[in-house]
Amino acid sequence: FLSLPLQAKMSRPVQARRLEGIDKNIWVEFVKLAATYSKVNLGQGFPDFPAPDFLQEALKRALGGGSHMLHQYTRAFGHPPLVTALAQLFEKLLGRELDPMTNVMVTVGAYQALFCCFQAFVDEGDEVIIIEPFFDCYESMVKMAGGTPMFVPLRPKAPKDGRLMSSADWQLDPDELASKFSERTKAIVLNSPNNPLGKVFSRGELELIAELCVKHDVLCLSDEVYEWLVYDGREHTRIASLPGMWDRTVTIGSAGKTFSATGWKVGWTVGPDRLLQHLRTVHQNSVYHCATVAQEAVAQAFQRELMLYGKPESYFVQLPRTLQQKRDLLIQSLVAVGMKPVVPEGTYFLVADISEFKSDVPEVPNLDEPYDYRFTKWMMKNKGLAAIPLSAFYSEAHKNNYTNFIRFCFAKEEATLKAANDILQKWKKEKTS
Ligand code: PMP
Repeated sequence: FLSLPLQAKMSRPVQARRLEGIDKNIWVEFVKLAATYSKVNLGQGFPDFPAPDFLQEALKRALGGGSHMLHQYTRAFGHPPLVTALAQLFEKLLGRELDPMTNVMVTVGAYQALFCCFQAFVDEGDEVIIIEPFFDCYESMVKMAGGTPMFVPLRPKAPKDGRLMSSADWQLDPDELASKFSERTKAIVLNSPNNPLGKVFSRGELELIAELCVKHDVLCLSDEVYEWLVYDGREHTRIASLPGMWDRTVTIGSAGKTFSATGWKVGWTVGPDRLLQHLRTVHQNSVYHCATVAQEAVAQAFQRELMLYGKPESYFVQLPRTLQQKRDLLIQSLVAVGMKPVVPEGTYFLVADISEFKSDVPEVPNLDEPYDYRFTKWMMKNKGLAAIPLSAFYSEAHKNNYTNFIRFCFAKEEATLKAANDILQKWKKEKTS
């Protein structure tokens, strides 16, 4: 042993093949840039206003007076009070009886719920349909599991009457969608309300997806983290509640979005035992368990919501009302300066067309980086305003078709939105003077 050289460096390649091509991550890069340069951050999706008092109080109770056992392990697949509250809530939402122990599993945020799904269901060679634009980790997670992502875009149609475009104007082409299904298709990922567009899929659109899932015997991984953030009186339809879909759908949610506490990283899956049993296998062999105190506090928050269900004091009623006002504030600011927003039906994001501002950041042909990446970085560095390029939510092959939009998050204090407005106004003035 002593005869070995001190600096015996490894020479063999260390990276597992499954990591090839997924090492870059938009969030790591843009979060760092925003922290360095931006004065006003409407980039990454998180509220800058406080989580509700009842949630903070619940955490204090869990930490303090309650049981000291809340500092210890709890049940691997979900703290019993939390899975019980979630089962009660989803019984209402899905209109069926649920067993908290087998139909619900708690995860480290919706992120881990997604990871469990892809690991549990996708084999080498399986195809997974992803609707563009999509939350970027779907693609990497499918690839890590050995699957092949098959992309199908929502196609924008400009409204004829001169009104602002709505996220509802971005639609699937039914034939194009159908053409992506084959005997190799294992699953489709649905995200409604959709990040980044804010599109809330209509019942008709969901029925089309459901019909294809049933026809081709395909699973549906339904990411519904923004389920309560729906505006203008619209309704969020849960695809698991459509005929034939319960048996093949995993519904994914997040306390981070539901209770404006993204740092807590408490998420869940709801579905039939025959699917969730495989998620439990992945969970018990990877994460095993999520922080008990956070689960206890989220359980109490849900118990409150169950008591107030449908009442005006419910956070599920109040949060979207507040966010709709914030959405409208940001829309006004963007319209006033000529950045055309696509009015979102849901989520706390909107995308805006930057065409009128392109003269500030000249296009350079044949660069590796898409134009909207360069525009957004320029805006952060030169204007102090952070956003996220829309093409980050597209596959490599389709990125270059969507470089005229950037995404803003409007889950922000009024002062933050006003500061963004000031930056935009000043910028517009400089352009025209
Ligand atoms: N899905 C979507 C569509 C998201 O936007 C996010 C968070 N940005 C997640 C899942 C992850 O949620 P969590 O923070 O609960 O892990």
